[in-house]
Formats: sequence, C-alpha cells, structure tokens
Amino acid sequence: MKLLITGGAGFIGSAVVRLAVKQGHQVVNLDALTYAACLDNVSSVADSPLYSFEHANICDREALTRIFGTHRPDLVMHLAAESHVDRSIDGPGAFIDTNITGTYTLLEAARSYWHAEGRLDTFRFHHISTDEVFGSLGATGQFTETTPYDPRSPYSASKAASDHLVRAWGETYGLPVVLTNCSNNYGPYHFPEKLVPVVILKALAGEPIPVYGKGDNVRDWLYVEDHADALLTVAAKGEVGRSYNIGGENEVTNLDLVKMICAILDDRRPTGAPHAELITFVPDRPGHDMRYAIDPSRIRDELSWKPSVTVRQGLALTVDWYLMNEPWWRALQNREGVGQRLGQG
Ligand code: NAD
Repeated sequence: MKLLITGGAGFIGSAVVRLAVKQGHQVVNLDALTYAACLDNVSSVADSPLYSFEHANICDREALTRIFGTHRPDLVMHLAAESHVDRSIDGPGAFIDTNITGTYTLLEAARSYWHAEGRLDTFRFHHISTDEVFGSLGATGQFTETTPYDPRSPYSASKAASDHLVRAWGETYGLPVVLTNCSNNYGPYHFPEKLVPVVILKALAGEPIPVYGKGDNVRDWLYVEDHADALLTVAAKGEVGRSYNIGGENEVTNLDLVKMICAILDDRRPTGAPHAELITFVPDRPGHDMRYAIDPSRIRDELSWKPSVTVRQGLALTVDWYLMNEPWWRALQNREGVGQRLGQG
C-alpha cells in the first residue's frame, strides 16, 4: 500500500512511519515541521526507497492537491495536529487552525482526489484522535465508541470537532473513513514537554519533578509502538465508517506513574537518594480532567488486537531509550516553551 501519513515527524506519526516502512509499505510523510517535529525521528528510514518527505501544511489546499496528485496514496493516516493541552490553554488559535481547518482542508483534498481516481472503495481516510474527546470520568466506568462527546479543553474540543468533520465527510460524501481514539501514549521520541519525558529528564538532572495538583488524575497508558501497530491494524482491517478505541489496559494515577519512573532510574542511575524525593506538587492545570479509561473490547474482539507490553515494561524500555539517546533530547530542550510551566490559564 501507499500511505500518506500526516504529522509523520511527530511522536506517534514517526512511530507509524518507521513501522509502515518496516512492513514494506510505501510512505509519504507530510509534515509542516512545527516546534513539535523532529526529522531525526525518522532518520532510520530516511534513506529507504520506500520513504519520501513532503514539507507542507495541512491548511494549504494547493500543496495538498499537488501531493495527492503526485503520490496517489491508497490510504491517508491523519496524525498532524497541535497536541499539547497546556499550549492549547495559552494559545488556542493554532489548535483551531490545524486541528479543525487543517482537517477540513485535508478532507476536501482527499475527497477531490478520491473522485478523480474513480471513488475506489479500497481508499481509506484514517483519522487519529484522542480519548480526551469523551471528557472526564469519575472513579468508575470506561469510554466506549458510543460514549457521548464532552471535551473540556481547547485541545480536546478541537479534536472533537475534527472527529465530527471526518464522520460528516463519510456520511455526506461517502468518503471511506475510519477513526481511532486512543489513550495517553508514551515511549521513544516523546517530545520533552510531555509528562513522561519531563519526569525522566528532571530526575536525571536532579531537579524538582513537577506533579500537577495531588497527582491523583488517572490515565490509561499506551506504549507508542503498540499504538503504531494498532493503527496499521485498523487501517488494514477496520470497517469503513466505524471507530475504534485503542487503550493500553494500564490505568495508573500520575503520581504512581512518576514513582514507577523514579524506581526504574534508581535501578539504572542510582544517586544515593531515591529519585522520588525530587517529586514536587505544583498548582493544577485549569480544567484538568480527572480520569480517562478505555474499554478496548471492540478492537480486541473485532480486529484481534491487544497491547504487547504492560506500563512497567514500556516505561523501562522508554527510560532506557532516553538514557541511550541524550543527543536527541538535548537538541530539543532549546525549543520555545520547553522546560517552562505552560497552561496555567
Ligand atoms: P506531536 O505534537 O508529537 O506531532 C504532531 C506533528 O504534526 C508534528 O510533527 C507537527 O510538525 C505536525 N503538524 C502540526 N501542525 C501541522 C500542520 N498544520 N500541517 C502539517 N503538519 C503539522 O503529536 P503526537 O503526540 O504524535 O500526536 C499525533 C496525533 O495523535 C494527534 O492527532 C493527537 O491528537 C493524537 N493523539 C495523541 C496522543 C498522545 O498521547 N500523544 C493521544 C491520543 C491522540
């Protein structure tokens, strides 16, 4: 298959690019190279004859028309987005532009291309979204694919809007769409402003490890390479018009997650004092959702997919990756906003 992957220089997109090339697919990576992008994430496949890169913005219809015409993809996997909740609190405009207008522009470009190619029913537009569109859970319950949308942050509201647009293009124009909503990812190449890399890098530097509020917010943690595998499974076997929730089956409070990372570092890089002593509680994010949890039955039962690692195994792999790839994360620490407290409202 020929895949057009948007956002392939980001965290999750690059994992999909690497895996898709490994599986023998032809891949076109379309990315605007925002602050969150890093082409080093795909350096392992950059010389492959199966890989090509297009520096373009998904809001640029002319560029999209040229890229669809040149590469003639069988499948679009749409991951390009503004993705950091804290940044969405400080500057929601970029989230509206990319996540809503960009998705609309990409849908229109895909629709024109699909028409020109004779409306092949083998074509797919796979939209990658988040469980945050479902809002916040109490102590019990899980999100299913039919949970009503209830987004709470500018980020999740913009992603919810993009999901609605994709469904509307499927229903109204017959575009063969499929959607996935996944839980929190972690793993190699995670940009150093997100929780897991922040904890690893603060602990390594011997600096206070910031934990929002009391650290009692619960997330379901999904290893990024498992997620990439799930996405390629859905792209190949998912039913048109259907959405699939993807989870790691690993619900943990933020505080427990931070303690797990500290314990791994105590083993890998002992300092004489437990790294957990660096944990520092800081004022919470405004509107911080309390709990997300995924019911993974549909993808497990219909597509026979389940995660391959537990959160403990995945965190150990992640910590080891950061220890072995210091030049990668050092280069990103100078980027705008990295290392600063954002999103206090
Ligand atoms: P990321 O921020 O690491 O990467 C996003 C990529 O998109 C970057 O390479 C960036 O340059 C590119 N991009 C941004 N705006 C663009 C534009 N206008 N045109 C073209 N490219 C643009 O994000 P991520 O964490 O890899 O997330 C990928 C997708 O998965 C997003 O849609 C996100 O909403 C979704 N998601 C992420 C998580 C998570 O835990 N990270 C969880 C659920 C869903």
